[in-house]
Amino acid sequence: MTVQAEALFIDGGWTRPSTSQRIAVHSASTEELLGHVAAGVEADIDAAVAAARRAFDDPRGWSSWEAAARAEVLERFAAELSARSGEIVRHVSSQNGMPIRIAQQTEGLVPANLLRYYAGLIREQPPEELRTSLVSGTTAVRKEPIGVVGAIVPWNFPQSLTFFKLAPSLAAGCTVVLKPSSETVLDALLIADAAIAAGLPPGVLNVVPGSGRGAGAHLVRHPGVDKIAFTGSTEAGRSIAETCGRLLRPVTLELGGKSAGIILDDADLTVSMKGMFSSCLLNQGQSCFISTRILAPRSRYDEVVDAFTALASSLPIGDPLDKATVIGPLASRKQRDSVEAYIATGTAEGGRITTGGRRPTGFDRGWYLEPTIFADVANDHTIARDEIFGPVLAIIPFTDDDDAIRIANDSDYGLGGTVWTADTDRGHALARKVATGTIGVNGFTMDPGAPFGGVKASGLGRELGPEGLTAYQRYKSIYLP
Ligand code: NAD
Repeated sequence: MTVQAEALFIDGGWTRPSTSQRIAVHSASTEELLGHVAAGVEADIDAAVAAARRAFDDPRGWSSWEAAARAEVLERFAAELSARSGEIVRHVSSQNGMPIRIAQQTEGLVPANLLRYYAGLIREQPPEELRTSLVSGTTAVRKEPIGVVGAIVPWNFPQSLTFFKLAPSLAAGCTVVLKPSSETVLDALLIADAAIAAGLPPGVLNVVPGSGRGAGAHLVRHPGVDKIAFTGSTEAGRSIAETCGRLLRPVTLELGGKSAGIILDDADLTVSMKGMFSSCLLNQGQSCFISTRILAPRSRYDEVVDAFTALASSLPIGDPLDKATVIGPLASRKQRDSVEAYIATGTAEGGRITTGGRRPTGFDRGWYLEPTIFADVANDHTIARDEIFGPVLAIIPFTDDDDAIRIANDSDYGLGGTVWTADTDRGHALARKVATGTIGVNGFTMDPGAPFGGVKASGLGRELGPEGLTAYQRYKSIYLP
């Protein structure tokens, strides 16, 4: 491995950080130290933004290249990432506890696929469109790259969420300063390694890990940055939005969720439960889009509770690096403490645990927690309102379809959701009425070709699809005689 954990990736090379501060990275399953990585501070963010600025402003630089030339580099970048995917996936699973069979799909494949997808899109997209003016002459409508992007990502799907931002922004001709989460930095440095091997020009991508919020906050308010692309908590998103609002700086915010999984009265539970794991409990529940409020018809409430109890208690818990594991540890001690506090609150407010609620036996080390099902939950209970970000589902009864929609929409959030039914048309009609950015019928398979994002406290703007490319472009109209 050529990654140097003592250095930062700035201006196309490994650079000495301005201080000796380091980030300690721990294994979620053994709690052992996995290594140390240099922690960037404000001066390092300044150096990275300056490099990205130079690369963007260079009249013969990345942003001025023909789309086909950029696409070629992005395809090489994809190949270099694919060559490192085994190592990347192992780093992700060791650091955040994601079962490796999930990491191979999301963290191993998605980044390269997104680079190839956006390389293809820019090859097809003409940079300029000639329109007949409504007054006289012709207007050339240009799409230009927005500039230097500050990309800030969380630890739960660190690679795929990074490439939700890198693939379209680099394709558009932007340059980027990436600030990964301090929990998942080892895999982030491999991105830099792949970028060097692919021949990305200096300054086009810079990777600066930082501990705490300081480095990210400095990037958000930095005068050399033109756009912020953020995925993380709603609390941090609000603070970033305030800064960007004051600076009139474009921002994309992918934030928290508390989505509803609506089980209609005609659903075949033996069929539906097959898709429930990935829709409701994926990555130990540390997934922003999952349906963590299960809405069950009163007429079938006990049956639904029994089905979820059986599902949750059947999932193999184990070492995230073992391919048989479906439930690994939570990402950190802090995260498990927070989820355990929610479980205590859920019980205190009248919820009834039907399975889980404890640390599993046989795991003395690692931040493990059993998948937990709560019955007898009302939509105003804390565990139905707050994003828990752990393997905890709340089952809430409804009377009819209108009541289900009312409860689904009675949330501060609106990111994902699912409808489960034997009648796809009925499910589709109901899905239209849910106030959310994305929703699936009989499953939730995120489509990289379609926009992804939230409404209300789940965020602003969209990633993925052609819309995700537009988010890194700005329009210019040139009036021609
Ligand atoms: P977090 O908000 O604590 O941190 C996310 C990233 O932002 C980290 O890199 C962190 O260092 C940085 N950061 C935190 N505060 C900042 C600030 N004020 N200014 C600049 N940078 C700041 O979130 P987390 O705990 O790492 O991730 C979990 C959260 O992310 C959950 O709420 C989850 O729902 C959300 N999430 C959303 C999506 C989505 O697409 N909507 C996807 C995954 C995760």
